[in-house]
Amino acid sequence: MSIRPYRDVIRRKSRQIFVGDVPVGGDAPISVQSMTNTLTSDPKATIGQILALEEAGADIVRVSCPDEESTRALKEIVRETNVPIIADIHFHYKRGIEAAEAGAACLRINPGNIGSADRVRDVVKAAVDNNCSMRIGVNAGSLERDLLEKYGEPCPEAMVESALNHARILEDNDFTNFKISVKASDVFLSVAAYQGLADACDYPLHLGITEAGSLFSGTVKSSVGMGMLLWSGIGDTIRVSLSADPVEEIKAGYEILKSLGLRRRGVTIISCPSCARQAFPVIRTVERLEERLAHIQTPLTLSIIGCVVNGPGEARETDIGLTGGGKGNHMVYLSGMTDHKIDTDGMVDHIVDLVEAKAAELEAAEKANPASPLLSTRQSA
Ligand code: SF4
Repeated sequence: MSIRPYRDVIRRKSRQIFVGDVPVGGDAPISVQSMTNTLTSDPKATIGQILALEEAGADIVRVSCPDEESTRALKEIVRETNVPIIADIHFHYKRGIEAAEAGAACLRINPGNIGSADRVRDVVKAAVDNNCSMRIGVNAGSLERDLLEKYGEPCPEAMVESALNHARILEDNDFTNFKISVKASDVFLSVAAYQGLADACDYPLHLGITEAGSLFSGTVKSSVGMGMLLWSGIGDTIRVSLSADPVEEIKAGYEILKSLGLRRRGVTIISCPSCARQAFPVIRTVERLEERLAHIQTPLTLSIIGCVVNGPGEARETDIGLTGGGKGNHMVYLSGMTDHKIDTDGMVDHIVDLVEAKAAELEAAEKANPASPLLSTRQSA
């Protein structure tokens, strides 16, 4: 039993599949995905974007394969990158076969959309032969006509039925190495569809609120929708869909998971909104620190608080803390204890040095004892 049960997320028990070497489902960490928006037929641009996504922490990256030039380029893309690549296929079963042969780790494909039973069998065979998993991706905006007629409009029941119909086609081909998504741009519809699907099967679920919008509004909408699901234990891999640089999707994905204690990566900054009591410019300081600390991967916590109203309390719970003090004398806390004072000039450089040193210390401790996970003061921050 946890000492803080109100923070526990009891995850739905799903079966586990692999996307390349990344486990999805079961007790695997919830993976964070994004998708390239370069032309896949331009391998140089696509490889560059995938490497940037890797740097940001992407576990898996999806690329569209709309034509033969794309699946031809896929081989080079897979060879020159490190994360597993999912090939996004719509309708053209041959692209699915080509993508599996080119080294895709997973195909995003709806078997009900690719035509005859023979074609499905050929795609399944290519997936099995090439150790490739699949994702069934139901989207409220492209539900099958018969389901729309049956239900009158896109609704959770129609989405679940669509997903299970696609799943059955694969099961009939003895293929169960897949995950499922039921995305909608409407939060209520998405959440209800995922809840229905979570009850109806034990396949791992890929969460997403589709076409969520711009960086700001899309992140908020995705956080609300995925937050409800993740908090209730549903979801094995996530993608935040934003009309923005895909790297932002990875950052948003991690922040969502970090806020629920489901993943830990990099520096989590706890900072106050600032007010007339602030003893240093909190907002600018946090912006500069976020930028300067983006390279840190080791999970640790940092509190940047403008004054003593909340500073000492937050600092007690974090690895490194800074609390604004009178006459430009700010208190630095290490592992929750007061340590030394610092003035406003050079404060950012000093905190960066402290965080880098703490990260190195945690990494060295982990190397010495790989069995114990990296431990920071505020475990669930
Ligand atoms: S911690 Fe202090 S500076 Fe920050 S918002 Fe609260 S009262 Fe204002």
